[in-house]
Amino acid sequence: MDRRIEKLMTWLKREEIDAAFLSSPTNVYYFTGFQCDPHERILGLFLFADGSPLLICPQLELSSVRQAGWNHSIISYHDAENPWELLRERIDQGCKRPKRIIAIEKDHLTYARAEQLESIASPVEFVAVDEQVNGLRMIKDEQELAIMTEAAELADTGVEIALSHLKEGITELEVVSQIEWGLKQKGVQEFPFPTTVLFGERSALPHGTPGLRRLQKGDLVLIDLGVKWRGYCSDLTRTFAFGRLSEPFEEIYQIVLKAQEAAISAVKPGVQVGSLDRIARDIIEKAGYGDYFIHRLGHGLGIDVHESPSLHAANDLTIRSGMIFTIEPGIYLPGRGGVRIEDDIFVTADGFRLLTRHPKELQIV
Ligand code: MN
Ligand code: MN
Repeated sequence: MDRRIEKLMTWLKREEIDAAFLSSPTNVYYFTGFQCDPHERILGLFLFADGSPLLICPQLELSSVRQAGWNHSIISYHDAENPWELLRERIDQGCKRPKRIIAIEKDHLTYARAEQLESIASPVEFVAVDEQVNGLRMIKDEQELAIMTEAAELADTGVEIALSHLKEGITELEVVSQIEWGLKQKGVQEFPFPTTVLFGERSALPHGTPGLRRLQKGDLVLIDLGVKWRGYCSDLTRTFAFGRLSEPFEEIYQIVLKAQEAAISAVKPGVQVGSLDRIARDIIEKAGYGDYFIHRLGHGLGIDVHESPSLHAANDLTIRSGMIFTIEPGIYLPGRGGVRIEDDIFVTADGFRLLTRHPKELQIV
């Protein structure tokens, strides 16, 4: 964690910024190893260009912070105290210049909280820290890769559990329960997004909500699931056929698979992120289904299930080793059915490694 803090401190010094205030629980976790949902209470990490880091947290979290291994300063407060007042002196000590520049998470810190911070740090100018931190988080270290490899294996297990329960008449929600029950038995405590199982025509909804639809012969079965494992997410989609599919879904499946594999094969450092989307989209467009691939190719994955980089056609960011992202093209025919295939991909020094491994040839259950 300290290496991550040092990297941000180097940036603060270079940019002549006095301090950074990290306020989202995911960024606090990234820099401290302390994972917590503070609800409406204030949780935050001050990193000073010169000076030691300072975590502010509710008093009830104090022992968990220590357990997480945080051995720098902490200010804790109980519910009757005003946490901002406790910070005033430390900000004065940490930011020596008459007018301070503090980097905040503009995408996360509420306007009300920015005003509170301004009132104790004034005169102060706020700049954004978001892009810098997103850039750090985008490149995973060895420890993060090890955790995310395990998270991906658990997602594979989730798909296997789902397959073992598919039978005529079972509902989408029953399959969801079986997946989550099985994964919880393996120690999974949290799911980063609602486990999704959609049958038949409902598979055409990229963000559909599972319900009481019962499985019938000839249905597509779309399963999109992930786990949150030691703070990191996996995200995996497979589409199966429950019996023979009606036209044109077997063909659509092959097109999606071809698009997905072509984009994955192109992954290596130096390539532009946007070109991956174009490779997949090109194949789907040439097959005549361009209007039915209605989302970007994929997204970065880590502590958040959606993080940088975004795999859309206009992103000219260069792929670097250490990135982890999903590749998940889909074709959705409204009211009829949809196919999506999604894997989690790690960028190596000269190519890629698949973290999710469940087979992808069309499986007729
Ligand atoms: Mn997904
Ligand atoms: Mn995804």
